Amino acid sequence: MPSARLFGAFLVLAGMPVAVLLALIWLGDLALLPGLVGIALIAVAAGLLAAVWARDMALLAATLRRAMADGDVAAGPAPRIPAVERTARGIERLARSLASRAGEIGVLLRANDAIIERLPDPLLVLSPARRVQRANAAMRAAFRDEIPAVLRNPVLREAIARAWSSADGSENAVQTVALSLPVPVEREVQATVIYLDPPLADGGQALVVLSDRTRERRVEQMRADFVANVSHELRTPLASLVGFIETLQGPAADDKPAHIRFLAIMAEQAERMRRLIDDLLSLSRIELVEHQPPADKVQLADVLRQVVAGFEPRLAERQTRLTLNLYEALPLVEADADQFGQVATNLIENAMKYGKTGGHVQVSLAPATPGGNWPAGPGLVLSVIDDGPGIARAHLPRLTERFYRVDKARSRNAGGTGLGLAIVKHIVNRHRGHLFVESEEGHGCTFSVWLPVRP
Ligand code: ADP
Repeated sequence: MPSARLFGAFLVLAGMPVAVLLALIWLGDLALLPGLVGIALIAVAAGLLAAVWARDMALLAATLRRAMADGDVAAGPAPRIPAVERTARGIERLARSLASRAGEIGVLLRANDAIIERLPDPLLVLSPARRVQRANAAMRAAFRDEIPAVLRNPVLREAIARAWSSADGSENAVQTVALSLPVPVEREVQATVIYLDPPLADGGQALVVLSDRTRERRVEQMRADFVANVSHELRTPLASLVGFIETLQGPAADDKPAHIRFLAIMAEQAERMRRLIDDLLSLSRIELVEHQPPADKVQLADVLRQVVAGFEPRLAERQTRLTLNLYEALPLVEADADQFGQVATNLIENAMKYGKTGGHVQVSLAPATPGGNWPAGPGLVLSVIDDGPGIARAHLPRLTERFYRVDKARSRNAGGTGLGLAIVKHIVNRHRGHLFVESEEGHGCTFSVWLPVRP
């Protein structure tokens, strides 16, 4: 307890009454002895009061210091003077409520940080100087060291400048632009710049949110290509039909043998259009249910036997030998029997169409052996192996694309629509299975379909 304060308090309390007593003694209105006794009593009382007051003040000051410095708001020793005590408790309550507010603000700031960090879209926080202040996890994962390069994109820089101009009241605070970013891989991105007024707690002045549109653009492109392909595929046989009709109506009107020849070709072209439309319809039907795996339990061996029996006349026609290898007691599989039949039909048909005349097609259905390139877990594998010319490695990844053909002329002559393997792929996807193609040019092809077996 500082003694100066104690002495000051003593003087304030004792000064006036002592001076009055001294004056009374001096004027002779008070006898010396009682006067001195009175002065002594006043001094003792004033000393005690001053000590209590100075201690309470020191306690109050300490409480205030603790509350302001480290938020320590535990109740300290109680001041003796009731008014001072109430003040000290008031300070403590105030400090407690401030501390809990500070805690809440801390939680909010951490929540903001977590939102920015975990947002699935890449996001940048820009400083008032338009520099990168922060990049969230998605941004770091997608662009790594290329973040400065992203900010150098002229279209994005312009959008940032426009957003910044909103600082003086114009309504440009949110700017959305489409960008094409060449690094680290080429992609189409939509960037949204959001100027923040007031700024973030950490000083961040703007957000740049990127959302990848590459996939959508690709899907749009694929859809456009698909329509173009279908029109093209239909136009060719249609043009040929129109041509023959004109010939039959005009120059060959009376030529009986030509009629017979042309009508045969026309029937073939019409059949080709029908096949194409059938395949397109099956493809769209399969796509409609692709997200819904089939629930029926099916014995695939029975389906496969029927499919193979259906091929007999054509095998004889092409002098192709087909061997069917079925394992005994295959488990039932959750499958769509018609769709599995279609997979087997398309693969066997291709093996016959593209295999050599007089060749050998081997079809088998067996449990997946562990250690092959099949996924983990129990499954069945349908394989169709031919000994035809095979397919060059470069074509393998694209075989299941719609209308992709290795040898266009050969496919068309064989009556192919270019959709057979696309249909296979979609059916296999619906069954949550996998299609594997192995081939070496000149050494035939192996198409394997792995389907999961659920216990
Ligand atoms: P397509 O109707 O033309 O047969 P697919 O989708 O069934 O269409 O097959 C795509 C292409 O894959 C075919 O055009 C053909 O070039 C090639 N292909 C498919 N199966 C075989 C095979 N067994 N041997 C050689 N090439 C094949």
